[in-house]
Amino acid sequence: MTTITRLRLPRPVTIRTLGDLGEQNQLVAHCPKCRHSRRLDLDALRGRYGLLSLRRLRARLRCTRCGARPPDLIHVFDNGAPFRGGR
Ligand SMILES: [Zn+2]
Repeated sequence: MTTITRLRLPRPVTIRTLGDLGEQNQLVAHCPKCRHSRRLDLDALRGRYGLLSLRRLRARLRCTRCGARPPDLIHVFDNGAPFRGGR
């Protein structure tokens, strides 16, 4: 009897909308002008915007310190690996 084992390889995750961000993810807005950064409240954003794309979300954000817009969105996994999103 032969047992066939199917290996499920992890697929690269594409983050496009607020719905693609899980509990283990964080989203940080960073202002390139004054270097202010702030972690965003994902639950509050989902409540307000639903499953908005990160690109559109970024266009709606502005820096709470200097008013510049739009800030960069930096998506951070809990393992510490950041990458930029929302472009
Ligand atoms: Zn700023």
